[in-house]
Formats: sequence, structure tokens, C-alpha cells
Amino acid sequence: MSDVLKYAIDLVAVLLLALGIKGLSKVRSARGANQLAAVAMGLAVLGLLVNYLGMEAGISATAWTWIIAGTAVGGVLGAITAQRVPMTSMPETVALFNGCGGMSSLLVALAAALYPAALDAAGPVALVSIVVSVFVGAITFTGSIVAMAKLQGWLSTPAWMQSKLRHVVNIALAVASLVGALEMLRHADSGTGLWLVVVASGLLGVGVTLPIGGADMPVVISLLNSYSGVAAAAAGFVVGSQLLIVAGAMVGAAGLILTQVMCNGMNRSLVSVLFGGALGASVASGGGGGEYTNITSCSVEECALTMEAAERVVIVPGYGLAVAQAQHTLREVTRVLESAGIDVAYAIHPVAGRMPGHMNVLLAEADVPYEQLKEMDQINPEFPAADVVLVLGANDVVNPQAKSDPNSPLYGMPVLDVQEARTVFVVKRGMSAGYSGIKNDLFELANTSMVFGDAKKVLGDLLVELKDLGLGKK
Ligand code: NAP
Repeated sequence: MSDVLKYAIDLVAVLLLALGIKGLSKVRSARGANQLAAVAMGLAVLGLLVNYLGMEAGISATAWTWIIAGTAVGGVLGAITAQRVPMTSMPETVALFNGCGGMSSLLVALAAALYPAALDAAGPVALVSIVVSVFVGAITFTGSIVAMAKLQGWLSTPAWMQSKLRHVVNIALAVASLVGALEMLRHADSGTGLWLVVVASGLLGVGVTLPIGGADMPVVISLLNSYSGVAAAAAGFVVGSQLLIVAGAMVGAAGLILTQVMCNGMNRSLVSVLFGGALGASVASGGGGGEYTNITSCSVEECALTMEAAERVVIVPGYGLAVAQAQHTLREVTRVLESAGIDVAYAIHPVAGRMPGHMNVLLAEADVPYEQLKEMDQINPEFPAADVVLVLGANDVVNPQAKSDPNSPLYGMPVLDVQEARTVFVVKRGMSAGYSGIKNDLFELANTSMVFGDAKKVLGDLLVELKDLGLGKK
């Protein structure tokens, strides 16, 4: 009876997880989808407990204590983290969660390798699964921890890691992992093979992730997310859990698709992200933005006057908006504009910011209505009808060079055609470059004016000016 109940619970959990992943693709349904996926995971734990309860031999009181304590500690830590972590630290948090997933799969496989008697399934399938789970789990764990530490600014890339020497070291580690794996497959009880795979693949995770530039890290995190799914699926084969196999495969596939989407949005290949080292970050931090000769700047007051006369305003949020944490002030500004009958929309570029969906999450935090968020393909034909475009801390995603200059490193990256609007205001602190490190032709166009300053300060001043003009009184 408990078997039937467990399978029924597992089936519902898988369905909810699939629906959850599907729902995450739309802003409107994402919040509910996340809750569905959380319920699915809760059911997965419940299914396992039902299975244990129904086991003839039963499990010891000590084991129950560990299971309940582990579930409680993990649940409480997860809930506290989700409540406390600021939106800007989301990539680090996701990296940490991926690392936990990799570590769990690694520990399950290690336990199965060290105590094979506890395994239901034995034989070649279980053995290959253990090897895969240890290898991918260890890479995911160490790679994710390095990614998190780099994003937090706790780690930087040592000079030798930028040289070709790192490829030699990484290849040697990959070969050592392979040797250990073959040894495990030949002698199932080979402790040497097991520990060789654990150490070499763990170091490989560090060696591959450490040289990658900070701004490319979200792509790597998405890839590591996919790996954590593969490791979980392999662990599912180890312990004979269909649920883990299906859930791991779904996460693996979803992570891989997201990685591909991000690479396309940045016009970069996965190979250049993984093997190009810290190039992206060093170019960006170098600020090699090129010379600007024809810049027009204006005051916040002039910006407010133009907006007051506008019928349609499009907001373009970028990384700088997230840095300034100006989303709430922005929402106040747009409320004032709307109350004056001005039509407001937000143009969302797929890789604006530093993680997928960064801008959606940021604006949702400030209660921006979903229907005002327009994706790039939807909003691009609408720019000619916009009176004012307000670019807030965005740079690369509005660079027309991506379409006009075949020699530009951005060439081919899809961008927002903001220059088509009647007037463009660009809010940033100075003339430094964006992530790509290159000059932005938009800033020198005749219909563009720069409004220099921190995004939050400028928006705060704009709010005051708009109210002084009598907007927002209704
Ligand atoms: P961006 O090109 O990095 O430009 C951000 C701009 O914000 C900078 O020019 C900076 O100029 C300005 N800024 C920084 N702090 C500010 C503040 N406090 N107030 C006002 N402005 C501020 O950003 P983006 O246009 O959003 O483009 C995203 C880039 O990141 C793309 O190149 C994309 O490929 C890359 N990327 C995205 C992802 C992803 O998944 N979303 C992942 C990896 C990389 P000042 O310093 O002069 O103020």
C-alpha cells in the first residue's frame, strides 16, 4: 500500500515540478510557478518518508532523528536565506544553492560507494551512476562555491590562471578524473579510484571556474545549475529514485537551455565564456570606452519639462539601476507620470543587468505592473512612437553599434532601438563603458541628452521636479 501511495505522491510531485518550470517562463505566472515547484519538492520529501514508514525492516530511531533534523535545518536555512538575501545578491545565492545540490549528489554517491550493502540496486548501472554522480557533483560543488566567492568579491583570479598554463593544469585534472573513474569501474571497491575522482574533479571545478570573468559568471552559474541537475539524476539512478531522475533531468535540460539563451543574448559562444578567461571582466573594468567628442548633457529640470509634455514614455532599465537600487524611486516617478495621463512602458532586454530576468525581478520588487513590461521584440517597433525614452544605468543593451558596425565586439547582439524615439535621456554617473568595455554611439546622437548622476539621486530629483510642475496632484 505504501508503495502505491509513494508512487502516487511522486507522480503528483513530478507533474507539479514540470508545471512549475513551465510557469517560470512568464513573468505573470513565475511567482505561482515557484510556489508549485516548492510544493513539488515538499511532496518529494513526503513520498520518501511514506516509503520509509512502509518498509518492513523499518529504520532506526537514530536514522529518523537525522532525517527530521536534516529536513528541519535545511528548511529553516532555506526560508531565512530567501527572506534576507537582497535582489542584487541573487546570482551568488543561486550559485550557493547549486553548490548544495552538487554536494548532496556527491555525498549520496560517496555513501553508496563506501557502503554498497545499503544499495537496493547494484551492478553496472549503479556503478556508472556513482562515478557520474561523484564526478559531476564534485565539479558542481567546487565550481559553484568559487563562482559565489568571485561574485561576492572574496576571490580574484590569480595571474597564472589567465595564462595558457591553466589549460594544461585543467587537462591534467580531467585525465586524472578519467583514470580514477576507470579504476572504479574495473574494481567497484577501489578506494583509490574513488578518492582520485573526488579530488581531481573537485579541483577541476575550481580550475575551470576561477579564470572566468565576474560578468560572465551568471552564464557559468546557469551551466552549473544544469550540472547539478545531471548530478541529481545520476544520484537518482544510484538510490533507485525515479523522482530524482526525472527532476534532475528537467533541471539539467532547463539549465542548458537557459545557458544557450544567455549566450545568444550576449552574442557570445559558450566556448568563449568557458575558455576565454577573465577577458570580459578586465575589458569592462578597464573602462576603455573610447573618446566622446559630441556629448550633450542636460539638467534634471529640462528632463522633467520634456517628460511633462510627453504622451508616451519608455523606461529602459539596466545594470546601473540595480546597482543604485533605484527601482522604488523609479516606480514613484512612473506613478506620477501615469497620474498625469502619460502612457508608460518598460523595455526589457533579455540580458540587461547581470543575471537572466534581473530587470523583471527588480521591477516586480517595486510593484511595476506586469503588463507594462515589454520584451525587446515587442517594444522595438514601438520606439518611433515614443516621445521620451529614459535609459537608466543601461549601456550595452542600447548601443546601436551592435547593428551598424560589423567591427564592433557587440555586432550581432540584439539591442533596444531607443535611438528611434523622439528624445532619449541617458542617466549614468559618467562616461565609463558598460560590461563590454566599448564606446556607445547612442550618447553622441542629436536626440540624446545625458543626465549625469547616480540613478537613485537623479530619479529622486526628477520626482521633485515633476511634482513642482504639478504632476501627480490627482
Ligand atoms: P552595462 O552595459 O553593464 O552598463 C551599465 C551602466 O550603468 C554603466 O555604463 C554605468 O555607467 C552605469 N551605472 C553603474 N552604476 C550606476 C549608478 N549607480 N547610477 C547610474 N548609472 C550607473 O549594463 P546593461 O546595459 O544592463 O547591459 C548588461 C551587460 O551585461 C550586457 O553586456 C550583457 O551581455 C552583460 N551580461 C548580462 C548577463 C545577464 O544574464 N543579464 C550576464 C552576464 C553579462 P557609469 O559608471 O558611468 O555610471
